Amino acid sequence: MDVDARVRTDPAGALLSLHDVEVRYPGATEASAQDISFDVRSGRTLGLVGESGSGKSTIGRAVLGLVPISAGSMSYRGEDISHRDQRVSRRLSAHLQVVFQDPYSSLNPNRTIEQTLVEPLLVHSALGSREMRDAAAEMLAEVGLDEAALGRYPAHFSGGQRQRIAIARALIVGPELVICDEAVSALDLSVQAQVLNLLKRLQADRDVTYLFISHDLDVVRFMAHEMVVLRRGEIVEHGAAEQLISAPKHPYTRRLLASAPVPDIERQHRRREAARSFAED
Ligand code: ADP
Repeated sequence: MDVDARVRTDPAGALLSLHDVEVRYPGATEASAQDISFDVRSGRTLGLVGESGSGKSTIGRAVLGLVPISAGSMSYRGEDISHRDQRVSRRLSAHLQVVFQDPYSSLNPNRTIEQTLVEPLLVHSALGSREMRDAAAEMLAEVGLDEAALGRYPAHFSGGQRQRIAIARALIVGPELVICDEAVSALDLSVQAQVLNLLKRLQADRDVTYLFISHDLDVVRFMAHEMVVLRRGEIVEHGAAEQLISAPKHPYTRRLLASAPVPDIERQHRRREAARSFAED
């Protein structure tokens, strides 16, 4: 990694901090993520972008505590969460939620939307059943769905609506940090735009922080204040999103930009730039 691309950590302002994190899956010869350092600031969106297999989901899973880290450390609001026990995991899960790519498999087909939305409240709140139903209805309204959805099953809904339900489930306990792992990648472009706008509105309304994972640089560009570019498990570039897009330093970032769907003239220019940069890489 370039020295000037190194992350300057600022634990005081960070909700989540990673310091030289490494993840090595059992039996794997190489680490799937290494030397990963970044801060996610409260109320902001940090985009993690890179090609398929670059380690984005691995980092998301490590933050969620779904895979152990083999080196480095992570902290949440200054508390070390590198190797958390069940008690800490449970406490954190009220603050840390996730929205996955595939709303078809992430929602239980045998549960009504009310059951799905109430489930996190059973764990994290002391609300009675009437209050939980009201909270579920309110949350549905916030994501643009009608109360009538409560009694229905996931099969009734489109992909975009299911993703709205998955977002409602993630947000109903009022988390501080939501990891969006390819949250719109399975959706048509027009539906993607609606869901991205919804996520932005929810951030403005609730001051929620996103760790936003996507292979699609255009999507990350739309969402993120800061961006981390990953390649083969390592950070190649990190900075303010606009700056990184307008003046990418690393040839790999330029290649990602060149493959993003942008207007033709701009794209042709980027492709020429990227072609030139292949030699440097
Ligand atoms: P991305 O999210 O960027 O597509 P991943 O984090 O899923 O990338 O994968 C990064 C690397 O880790 C890949 O080489 C992948 O094959 C490997 N990997 C992912 N999950 C596992 C696993 N459970 N066991 C072993 N290797 C894995």
